[in-house]
Amino acid sequence: MDNFPRPRVLFSRCLGFEACRYDGSMIRDDFSQALIPRVDCLASCPECGAGLGLPRDPVRLVRDGDRLLLLQPASGKDWSGAMEAWCEGEIARLRAGPAFDGILLKSRSPSCGPGEVKVYVGRDAKAATEKAPGFFASSLAQAFPELPMEDEGRTRNFTVRDHFLISLYCRAEYRAARESHDVRSLLDVHTRWKLLFMAYSPTVTRVLGAILAANKRRPPEALFEDYGRELARLLSKPFRYTSMINALQHAFGGLSEALSPAERAFFLATLEEYRDERIPLSVLLRLLKGWALAQGNAYLLSQRLLSPYPLDLVTITDSGKGRHY
Ligand code: SF4
Repeated sequence: MDNFPRPRVLFSRCLGFEACRYDGSMIRDDFSQALIPRVDCLASCPECGAGLGLPRDPVRLVRDGDRLLLLQPASGKDWSGAMEAWCEGEIARLRAGPAFDGILLKSRSPSCGPGEVKVYVGRDAKAATEKAPGFFASSLAQAFPELPMEDEGRTRNFTVRDHFLISLYCRAEYRAARESHDVRSLLDVHTRWKLLFMAYSPTVTRVLGAILAANKRRPPEALFEDYGRELARLLSKPFRYTSMINALQHAFGGLSEALSPAERAFFLATLEEYRDERIPLSVLLRLLKGWALAQGNAYLLSQRLLSPYPLDLVTITDSGKGRHY
């Protein structure tokens, strides 16, 4: 199955949309460039929106007692109030617009960075000694806690990027079902994603199944609401490779009867190589897909486990941290 939906994604505008950084430049990021043609894009630039101008002197996060400020050392200006007012308006605008599925922001920016942004403790501090999220990232996390949010720096790690893409495409299918108000569409989504959900959390997968099983006794909106909340819980962290191994064994169970003893032994040995981090998950998924095709196993071929997002978004580049993101 390769008819993928188009997720709606909010980007920092400097990630390939406009040369709006403080020095009039734009970020050329490979992942954003690959993603932009595949998704419906929204793009915001908080510093332009708050009136800092272009080009502008850089701003920084400064801790002043309990408060986090957005200060511009060159001008001595405090932009915190203007930025807070802009964030409030932008969140209201986003809430009023069509629902979206995820957020990709510029790393380390005092406005956009979702974490790990330098904080200078005291207005005259020479060096940063703390880390915090930027102003806009904080507002987004508070307003849309259920949405996957990443920055372009972290998505250089394969695990982070893979999990972000899985979350985007899964949420896009959930959103389409919700917008259709048709519970049967949600049942289809759940069926397609079930094996991959089990790799995330067998416990939450059971909770999702129980929500759907109660569908005749409840209004559809309440059901979509509950399902969405549990889906956000399921996707709050990348899958654990141990749970993935269980899901792969489950998928293999539907194929193994028609395989030879040598093929079965080969799969189990390959599974151990994955457990030991000697081969990537894609090797096992390709093996399963090949056998599913040969056996005409429609159930397995329909599973998002084998193909959660478009192949042209799969890149094997990695920051070198592997599973340790
Ligand atoms: S990081 Fe955010 S505030 Fe800075 S230029 Fe990019 S979009 Fe604008």
